[in-house]
Amino acid sequence: MSKAIVSSLYDSEVFKMACRQFDKAADAINLPDALRDRTKYPRRCLAVALPVKRADGSVTVFEGYRVQHNLSTGPSKGGIRFHQHVTLGEVAALAMWMSWKCSLVGLPYGGAKGGVIVDPNQLTENELEHLSRRYMQEMVNFIGPHTDVPAPDVGTNEKIMGWMMDTYSNHVGHVVPAVVTGKPISLGGSQGRREATGAGVAYLVKKYLEDLKIPITKATVAIQGFGNVGSETALALAGYGAKIIAISDYTGGIHNPKGIDLKKALTYVQYQKVLRDFDGGEPISNETLLELKCTVLVPAALERVITEKNASKLRCRLLAEAANGPTTNAADRIIEDRGDIELIPDVLCNSGGVVVSYFEWLQNLSSFYWGRDEVITKLFAILDKAKDSVEYQMRKFKFSRRLAALTLGIQRVADAKQSRGLFP
Ligand code: GLU
Repeated sequence: MSKAIVSSLYDSEVFKMACRQFDKAADAINLPDALRDRTKYPRRCLAVALPVKRADGSVTVFEGYRVQHNLSTGPSKGGIRFHQHVTLGEVAALAMWMSWKCSLVGLPYGGAKGGVIVDPNQLTENELEHLSRRYMQEMVNFIGPHTDVPAPDVGTNEKIMGWMMDTYSNHVGHVVPAVVTGKPISLGGSQGRREATGAGVAYLVKKYLEDLKIPITKATVAIQGFGNVGSETALALAGYGAKIIAISDYTGGIHNPKGIDLKKALTYVQYQKVLRDFDGGEPISNETLLELKCTVLVPAALERVITEKNASKLRCRLLAEAANGPTTNAADRIIEDRGDIELIPDVLCNSGGVVVSYFEWLQNLSSFYWGRDEVITKLFAILDKAKDSVEYQMRKFKFSRRLAALTLGIQRVADAKQSRGLFP
């Protein structure tokens, strides 16, 4: 009987949640004991202190992390989050989900994630650049195009990826575009990467609505989170003819049963930075948004927003997890018992981002660049295949859709570990 001897390094609710999901999936596929803990726990992590000179001349030290969960199937892959509530445990959970996500959609990557405890809105552009460069500088020996490849996540963007790529390239003495993905196009970023996560979410929503025989032109959509993923999902779904009736960010939400003018909302956010006081509908709270009657509910912000407190109050037909880990395990059970909501689990639903990151990395390594149509066609083909395999697994074993997706992702990682053997 194997037993992990581990410390409380990653201890947090969200890490426990990811571990419980793993345990359930491992039980469901009878994963041998000898492989369980090896597959479950992060391979390694790095915590760094990041001193930044502030605009007023003072120095603030920020704390940053990178967790590499699995490197058995290729370099590890995953975003870097800048958020004031980042914890090492959260980063570890997110790294674990990246492993299952990359594996599920068949990418030659392991999973990783990074984070810095900072509210990026409180920094000047200069301070943000110094923080981003310092983070990469500290990670130089831990990261690389064949070791670990970061990308944007909550609170980071193309510009930050550009600074990080520049820092790494200066360190090694030549341009290394493949060290990060989600870069500006001018630095080797891929066509379609910025909108990829949202485009993928919207595409899968369209496909699942077809399965449910609901015309997308009759669908109403509520989206929590209006950052890159939330706003691109809204635009893509509106492009398919769905009506976006509610959007929100951390300052609150807007509800308009007639449909929100997305262009107006995007312009407003471009200038005001937040949705607060946007006059395109009635103000609502983030909590109320989740309980609105709608065809599709899209949590596109942070983890653990659908809990045992509100799971029984959801009034959607389809729950599309654009965020990572938005539904707690207790809420999952309630949703399963209800049986009236179809759930597209995060590792499938938001995988479009990392799929196009993979395309970006391939283009960087071969110095041969693709057009947008090629990117999007290849993205949708991968999502179709992943969706089909999840549906097959679900039917074959009578699993929930989340369990089907996780078992597929976990099995492939475990198989790779089994085949590689244990070193030495
Ligand atoms: N941060 C995104 C995610 O959670 C993208 C990761 C990537 O492109 O590497 O999937």
